[in-house]
Amino acid sequence: MLKLERVSKYYFSGNNVVQALRRINLEFKTGEFVAITGESGSGKSTLLNILSGLETYEDGKMYFNGKDLSHYTIEELEHYRKNYIGYVFQEFNLINSYTVYQNIDLALSLQGLSKEDRHKKVLNLIDQVGLNHATNQKASNLSGGEKQRTVIARTLAKDYQVLVCDEPTGNLNEEASIEIFKIFKEISKKKLVIVVTHDVSQILNYATRKIHIYDGEIMEDSYLAAHKDIPDNEFVVTKTKATLLNQMAIGFRNVLAVPKKSILALFAILFLLSMMFSVYSAGIIEQNKPIETSNPYFSNIDSSRIILIKDDHTQFTDSELTEIGSIENVQGIFNNDVVFDSTFLTKKFSAAEGKYLFYYFKPLPALSLIESEIIEGSLPVTDSEVIVGNNGLYEIGDTIDLANSYGLVATQALNTDQFTFTVVGIANEPVELEDDLHHLYFSNLGLARLAPSSIYENSEISINIYGTEKFDIPTDSWITPEEDSSVDIGSRTYQIPYPTWIQIDNSLEDGEVLSVNLMYFEMCRNFSYKIEIRDDMEAGLCDATAFIESHDITYRAITVYENDKLFQPITLISQIQTDSDRSNKLYMNEKTFNDFFGEENYQITVIVKDSFDGNKVVTELKELGYNVFYPSQLLSHEEALEIVSHNLLVSLIVAAIIFVIILVGYFILKYITVSKIRDYLILRSIGSSKSNMKNILRFELLYLSIISIILMIGIAFMIDIYLIDIPDFLKYFKWHNYLLLFALVVIVLEFIVNRLAKNIYQVNVITALKGVQR
Ligand code: ADP
Ligand code: MG
Repeated sequence: MLKLERVSKYYFSGNNVVQALRRINLEFKTGEFVAITGESGSGKSTLLNILSGLETYEDGKMYFNGKDLSHYTIEELEHYRKNYIGYVFQEFNLINSYTVYQNIDLALSLQGLSKEDRHKKVLNLIDQVGLNHATNQKASNLSGGEKQRTVIARTLAKDYQVLVCDEPTGNLNEEASIEIFKIFKEISKKKLVIVVTHDVSQILNYATRKIHIYDGEIMEDSYLAAHKDIPDNEFVVTKTKATLLNQMAIGFRNVLAVPKKSILALFAILFLLSMMFSVYSAGIIEQNKPIETSNPYFSNIDSSRIILIKDDHTQFTDSELTEIGSIENVQGIFNNDVVFDSTFLTKKFSAAEGKYLFYYFKPLPALSLIESEIIEGSLPVTDSEVIVGNNGLYEIGDTIDLANSYGLVATQALNTDQFTFTVVGIANEPVELEDDLHHLYFSNLGLARLAPSSIYENSEISINIYGTEKFDIPTDSWITPEEDSSVDIGSRTYQIPYPTWIQIDNSLEDGEVLSVNLMYFEMCRNFSYKIEIRDDMEAGLCDATAFIESHDITYRAITVYENDKLFQPITLISQIQTDSDRSNKLYMNEKTFNDFFGEENYQITVIVKDSFDGNKVVTELKELGYNVFYPSQLLSHEEALEIVSHNLLVSLIVAAIIFVIILVGYFILKYITVSKIRDYLILRSIGSSKSNMKNILRFELLYLSIISIILMIGIAFMIDIYLIDIPDFLKYFKWHNYLLLFALVVIVLEFIVNRLAKNIYQVNVITALKGVQR
């Protein structure tokens, strides 16, 4: 069955050549129990390794079942060994953390047998080697003889044609050795058994043939018993592979078998995952957090506020409002949204100072308050209830009289009750206030009560002029520049109190606004130039018309007009008229007037539950086709650029930190897995393919990762409840964020798997095992 013809083997090391085998001619048959004896260094192991396909040879031929193996590649030889040769490795080749049963079961599992099939077979094999008493003992607790018997049983788990064994009794006492030889004797009744030993005395009582080697040559080849021919053809190569289920089970057992290492690996993965997750989340939060900004259009830039209008400037219908209200994270909708851009004063009598003091407030919807922000009292419900910020100015139960921004107290305005409210709660106010405005939180009804018309009547309108261009002052101007003949106009706002300065003039076109002498005065007053008042206020002295025509002028009122889609341009015409009756006023036709100041609500404010949701809601509203304006996110080019570079920087920092975390995690995990390399080598030695071994390791890491994720969520949950409020940053996560994190983790783990597989499969089994043993 197995035949060698003039086989020679040389070892080359440096300049030395050792001839380990010299022209060996041997033939083995099924049913033989061959004892190969010889001194140390005589070539016994070399011969055995060649027979089992672990080593190649330089000269001669080897036949197996009549097939010439001489030209086989290393892979082909490995394949040959896996299928036909049962190599009984030294006793140290057991997984110490496994029981006898589990060690044998492993070999069957790798062949893809089901649990039930394996169970019977394992018990059978244990019985065959006489280890019934030790079935559930850990391999590390076995005696040398028991270990060797376990190894033999495990080797027998696969139906090999040839069983080879190098020094099986090297570390055993006589009694144990005899047990082993008895087992071989039994096995050799159906197979070819070749045993290498330097200990001759015992084996010869059991072997059927003795081959003595000396210095690579056969000195003796004698039969100790008559040979009985046994037909070879009963043997069938079992080509089964470990099923995925078996791989999963082996991985699971590996995790449980070494609890300390598994817990260590668990912490390493937990570290890797949680650090990566938190750093990544921190980066995303940093990139998404609302930007502190201001704009010349809306004074209320609370990040919970989003402003909407329709393209055609019509009112929102009920069904549209319902649709908007049903968007996730929308807390409420406000028709009279101009309220939010108004500033109010409160009048409070100070006994200490003996006079009334005024404080500035901006109105906010109570809906934008988060429960945790309410320190005392409750949310306002009726239209006359209000929550104040915790600025110490008011207490629950106090009455607040609102005044307009000129300081005219409500009672002096049109309606006595309209601006009187009762404090029902105190809320946490930001430490730093935007525009130094304290907060007042109203119920929806309360906000509705601050009707636009009342506000307009107590409010002011401003005109913004932008530009950095120089404005040439006419030489004949009565303005005398201090140094230059030109003025840098910068960006300015002109306040025009309503309604005194706004008049209807239906001779004007829609969208036309005429200012009479207004720009002239305002502009001149705002520049710090010497002003000479002349007797004759005639046109041409300060050519405001030319100035206005050459500059962008935008108008801020109830609705904002700008080039942006949300806004429509208006035409501002400036005239200088000597007719003093029309001086200092803005004129527009009735339609334009109603566009700005009418009671129709074609502009609404949507309040989001959490400012984190702002951008998300904006996107959804845009998808619905509305003109959306998010005041807290309105950016100039510079600001936008700043944010882009800020985000880029954040991305880079996050990437760098994650890279370091990955490196640390990778090295810890690699260290842990490499410490288990022996167990994986054993997997290989008992026939596990590389892909098989990789899958087993993958499953191990997968189990640990799943536990880590559960732990991580649990820990985060506990921290959130008992330590600090973790912001709901997952809102920022889109599927691709999860995918990226997942991919990163998979890459790290895959690196480890491949690294280990490479370590294990780069050299042959014997070398690798011996390397680990050392
Ligand atoms: P035995 O098993 O009988 O003790 P070996 O087959 O291991 O002997 O070795 C036979 C000869 O080949 C020895 O001289 C040994 O030094 C040499 N040898 C074995 N393996 C190697 C190797 N990998 N490289 C170089 N020389 C080797
Ligand atoms: Mg040897």
